[in-house]
Amino acid sequence: MIWNLLNNLLFTGNYIPHGYCYLWQPELVALHIVSDSIIALAYYSIPLSLIYFISKRKDLPFRNIVWLFAAFIISSGTTHIMEVWTLWHPVYWISGCLKMITAAISAYTAFILIPLVPQALTLVSPTQLGMIDRILQQEIIERRETEARYQTLTEASPVGIFYADAVGDCLYVNERWCQISGMACDEALGKGWFQGIHPDDRQRVFAEWYSAAQQKLPFKSEYRFQGIDRTQISWVFAQAVGQIGENGKVKSYVGTITDITERKLVEEENRLLNETLERRVADRTAQIEISNHKLQKEIAYREKTAITLLELTQLQNAILNSANYTIISTEADGTIKTFNRAAQQLLGYSPEEVVGKVTPAIIHDPLEVGKRAEVLSQELGVKIEPGMEVFVALARRGIADENEWTYIRKDGSRFPVQLSVTALFDTEGNITGFLGIGQDISDAVAAATQRKQAEKELRDLTAAMQNAVEGISRLDIDGRYVNVNRAYAHTCGYEPEEMVGMEWPLTVHPGDVEMLLSAYQEMLISGKVEVEARGVRKNGSFFHKQLTMVKACDAHGIFNGHHCFMKDITDRKLTETALQESEFKYKQIVELAEEGIWVIDSNALTAYVNHAMARMLGYSELEMFGRPLFDFMDEQQKQQAIDNVDRRKQGISEKHEFKFKTKEGKDIWTYLSTSPVLDEQGNMLSSCALVYNITDRKKVEEQLLQLTEDLKRSNEELEQFAYVASHDLQEPLRAITSYTQLLAQRYQENLDEKADKYINYIVDGASRMQQLINDLLAYSRLGTQGKKIEPADCNAAVQQSLCNLKIAIAEKKAVITCESMPTVMADESQLVQLFQNLLANGIKFCREDIPFIEIAAQRQEGEWLFCVGDNGIGIDPEYADRIFIIFCRLHSRREYSGTGIGLAMCKRIVERHGGRIWVESQEGKGATFYFTIPIL
Ligand code: ADP
Repeated sequence: MIWNLLNNLLFTGNYIPHGYCYLWQPELVALHIVSDSIIALAYYSIPLSLIYFISKRKDLPFRNIVWLFAAFIISSGTTHIMEVWTLWHPVYWISGCLKMITAAISAYTAFILIPLVPQALTLVSPTQLGMIDRILQQEIIERRETEARYQTLTEASPVGIFYADAVGDCLYVNERWCQISGMACDEALGKGWFQGIHPDDRQRVFAEWYSAAQQKLPFKSEYRFQGIDRTQISWVFAQAVGQIGENGKVKSYVGTITDITERKLVEEENRLLNETLERRVADRTAQIEISNHKLQKEIAYREKTAITLLELTQLQNAILNSANYTIISTEADGTIKTFNRAAQQLLGYSPEEVVGKVTPAIIHDPLEVGKRAEVLSQELGVKIEPGMEVFVALARRGIADENEWTYIRKDGSRFPVQLSVTALFDTEGNITGFLGIGQDISDAVAAATQRKQAEKELRDLTAAMQNAVEGISRLDIDGRYVNVNRAYAHTCGYEPEEMVGMEWPLTVHPGDVEMLLSAYQEMLISGKVEVEARGVRKNGSFFHKQLTMVKACDAHGIFNGHHCFMKDITDRKLTETALQESEFKYKQIVELAEEGIWVIDSNALTAYVNHAMARMLGYSELEMFGRPLFDFMDEQQKQQAIDNVDRRKQGISEKHEFKFKTKEGKDIWTYLSTSPVLDEQGNMLSSCALVYNITDRKKVEEQLLQLTEDLKRSNEELEQFAYVASHDLQEPLRAITSYTQLLAQRYQENLDEKADKYINYIVDGASRMQQLINDLLAYSRLGTQGKKIEPADCNAAVQQSLCNLKIAIAEKKAVITCESMPTVMADESQLVQLFQNLLANGIKFCREDIPFIEIAAQRQEGEWLFCVGDNGIGIDPEYADRIFIIFCRLHSRREYSGTGIGLAMCKRIVERHGGRIWVESQEGKGATFYFTIPIL
């Protein structure tokens, strides 16, 4: 195929070379050759230039289209070469194909070129580029001019200018800056400017600069430059502005400093002037203050004097008004002038009601005044008229007059006063009036009455003390009895008189003397002490006493001994000791008990647990104390426990099983015996439980239950097995029996005597086995095919069994008697089997004489007792139990036939009905079988 294609392409056979078209005219052929060759050469050179150009201008857009142009031009050039070639070689297929390729490339280039035109139009033209260039050139010139202007401006600026980078390194300072700061330009560069600042200001300037930079605020500050040589100090006001870069951060600072040294000097001068002025003002103020102070003192003195005067008047009034005494002043003729507040309060009059009147007429008892007048008249030997004169007669004579009087209140009530009357004189010694001061002595009179009463009571008390049941004594400071009542003395075995003067240690057990001495010390401090001690009687015997020692003082509060109250507490002590011993005993019992004891209060909080209880749950007693009962069980048990506590609250005692949780989270089964402790109103005070750990028993119970279940299942399986086995064994056995019998019948004559004997053995063995299997089947059916328990007539059962046994009965001529039988709840067919087995045995195990069997029944509590007695060979009591075991026989088959299943069946039947079976017998004396059937 490819070969064919190549053949076609290179095929020249029938075509004529192109030169023939030009008739091989040399000039025409030459013309075409030359023009086509030149075109081809030109076409090949153009792509070379293009490729060179784009390789140099990597940024040139539309590179692909240039490549396409190059391909298109080369292919065009090649078509012209082919024009020359086909002049002699007519390979028109190749030539056509090349044209086709050229056409494809040119068409594709044209197609690609169309969408590129709008894009190409957006490119900047050389003219536009020229314009841009010119603008930029202009800008550069302008900037240079501006920069020059700024340079000039900066240099000529009256203020110092500086330029620093973002970290404060100085990049530029102008001439003025250097002049002001006293630093050279190169000294200021970098951090040099900072060194030129006065050392006292550096720290501050740095802080202010830093703060301004942080907050992007303009920096403003006043500080001093000292320069590097430290000679010139100039004050400057500096300000700087941060220039923010494109990233939003400060990229540099431009700032100025202004020389403010002169302003600062003026300010300093002003400050000094101000200080001088302030000092002068202060001096002047101090002088004024001194004068003022003197003046103030003078004023204060005068004010004080005035106040003293006022105070004196006030004091006078205060005394008059606040005194507890009635103070009444009168004119010389007795007319009342002043009537103080106490007088107003005590007598119930206002000053307006009494001022201007004469006292005796208002507040005194005329009778009392009359009596006093008489007494006074006698004393003075002058007639004193009842009236004002009675009160002032003595004072008038210069004699102190102080007497008890009775004042009458406005409401008519009376009270006693101690009235003292004094005469008031003027400067010439003339009486100008009288002053009566009265003291209310109601309390004193009452106190005197009380004192008398108290004295009487004391006398009564002393008498009572002497007769008191309790022992009372009084001891002096040396510890000797001063006073002893009868009870005290008799308790100690003395008469009261014998004990007076006796020292107390003689009445105390020697072992308690020291203790009492310290109690005595305590009493001296606290005033009273109570103590128990052993006393010694006169006869040397001991007794227990309770002593209360009370410190005694005289009327001036000086310690003068103590009182001692004594109670004989021998009986109480003995009871207490006995109680303590008993409590100890019970505590020991409770503490050492093997059973747990748990007491909870009315809120179910643990009030007490003994050691055994705590140990049972794996806690210590302390850990359990105070914790709720419900803390020691899981969630399911809680409701039951709450109900239990509620029943305790109702006063109900109970015994029950309960499951607790040990500290380790294990279940523990307990048997609780709980009872509440109630108060008189029947409210539960606490609940006490005796707790037995029955976890092991529970486990055993559970195991037993499991075991019983297992046994039951295994029994059922065994029964099933026995039934199936005995049933399935019958078939092969029947075959053995039949074929052995056939063998016997057919070959009996032909075989020898031994063979006949063997055949007989086989027949006998097979029929025995059949019997055994039948019995076994019957035994196993008892469990599996038992009928419903319903009322069954025992008479009928006995009759049926007799009927079944009639051949055996007839054979042995047995005599069987039967009383009237009851109706019981039973499976009647099994009852027949039961009687039949017992009767059959009675007939079978007879002696030579006639078997005599007796059947009877009697009602007992909750059951019927049946008995089947015979007069047979009897049973050794040793085997009374064994005979009920399956296959167990007491005799060989030769003696008595049988399989040993009969009684086992009887036992099974009786037990299935819920009864018991046993035998009572003596060897050779017959046997009586008993069985019971419960009454349902
Ligand atoms: P079997 O009668 O087939 O031997 P049983 O279970 O009925 O089996 O009795 C078991 C054994 O109890 C008898 O072999 C016999 O020794 C003894 N026995 C039973 N009944 C009597 C009876 N009435 N008097 C004496 N022995 C008896």
